[in-house]
Amino acid sequence: MAHERSTHPADSGSLPSVTPRSIAVVGGSAAGLFASALLARRGFSVRVLEGLEALEPSARTLIVTHRMRDLLGAAAAGSVVNEIRRFELFTDGRSATITLDEPDLIIERRKLIQSLAAGARHAGVRIELGRRFRRLRAEGGSLVAEVERCADGAAEEVRAGTIIGGDGAASRVAREAGWPALETVPLVQAIVPLPKGMAADTVRVWFVPQDTPYFYWLIPESPERGALGVIGESGPEMRQRLERFLEKRQLDPIEFQGARIPVYTRWIPVRRRVGQGSVYLVGDAAAQVKVSTVGGTVTGFRGALGVAESIANGGPSRELRALHRELAAHWLLRRSLHRFEQSDYSQLVDLLHEPAKRPLGEYTRDEAWKILWRVCARQPRLVLLGLRGLLLRRAAPGRTSEGD
Ligand SMILES: Cc1cc2nc3c(=O)[nH]c(=O)nc-3n(C[C@H](O)[C@H](O)[C@H](O)COP(=O)(O)OP(=O)(O)OC[C@H]3O[C@@H](n4cnc5c(N)ncnc54)[C@H](O)[C@@H]3O)c2cc1C
Repeated sequence: MAHERSTHPADSGSLPSVTPRSIAVVGGSAAGLFASALLARRGFSVRVLEGLEALEPSARTLIVTHRMRDLLGAAAAGSVVNEIRRFELFTDGRSATITLDEPDLIIERRKLIQSLAAGARHAGVRIELGRRFRRLRAEGGSLVAEVERCADGAAEEVRAGTIIGGDGAASRVAREAGWPALETVPLVQAIVPLPKGMAADTVRVWFVPQDTPYFYWLIPESPERGALGVIGESGPEMRQRLERFLEKRQLDPIEFQGARIPVYTRWIPVRRRVGQGSVYLVGDAAAQVKVSTVGGTVTGFRGALGVAESIANGGPSRELRALHRELAAHWLLRRSLHRFEQSDYSQLVDLLHEPAKRPLGEYTRDEAWKILWRVCARQPRLVLLGLRGLLLRRAAPGRTSEGD
């Protein structure tokens, strides 16, 4: 909750004066750094408070659509380690191949974050590492972020007219400003040697509904290595299932990566007033994640762009409206897929004939409505299959009861 008065000892001696154009961003990762650079370029005074003591976030292999290049420009270049031209879908002995018109990008998250940080600093952002945000309060006309300095546990206070929470799925900023906690799911992936004969420009996806309502994937990061992962509903169980899946394919894990990802079940309004200040959320903190595939990188950037637009223009943002529509399409898709049984997946793969597959290669996962309309127009039986999924009485993500 936001507190009107702090009981903490204040240590605000070295702080600059607060103007409505001073912004503190909590979380120096993808969404927070992107938002901070955009705002600094628009003339705002921006500081980033990041809990890590060095900009060495955990390594993570990610797949994103080429939309990331449009959003980030040069900042994206150094983090791209591979390009993907094909998806192979497998279920119950069946398969379908989708060829992409424009390649997807495989990126190394650590490099991406370091490159975003360099861009933010260049734009004038002050990045303060080893600063863990603890509490928020309104004081006079501004907001005060109470921060712990990780090196020695000392308390600091950061005053700003606006605070942006880019602090991930378990956002402390969101809790302090009064947003409810998010539903999350575990994602675990293993870095493995690429199986013999597997092309480095092809991603494999397996639908195994008895293991997970989501899917397994194998994403090549080079001709030698790839990330084989799964999303599920219970962390320890998913790790065991992943290990069984690896064993069956005789793949020895080199390392494991994992974390909890927020599940988008409804649009989260990104702004709240606290006293006379504003608090915004970006990225995973606002569940800006495509829930069909649980990809949050590009949508987090779009959320950051939308929030920056909204702050700079002092009003609604077109990017946020478009992102809302996009996330809703993925939610619809997830609600249907989440209830699929093996026979539904088999039918899905069988129904993906050439004309129906075209839109999947032509449009990216960041244009879900276009894909949905065009695939359904070319293969109307997929509409029936999708509706069947929506009507089946299995729980959708974020719902605890059956048949919500
Ligand atoms: C193993 C794995 C694989 C994934 N694969 C993909 C993929 O292929 N494609 C895709 O699009 N997405 C993928 N994702 C999801 C994607 O990584 C996230 O959606 C994205 O990183 C979210 O970025 P963010 O900036 O919103 O938050 P985060 O990256 O979670 O960053 C939050 C930042 O806030 C900091 N922080 C947290 N609390 C505080 C605090 N109190 N004070 C100060 N700082 C704080 C953290 O240190 C961190 O730097 C994957 C996730 C995982 C775990």
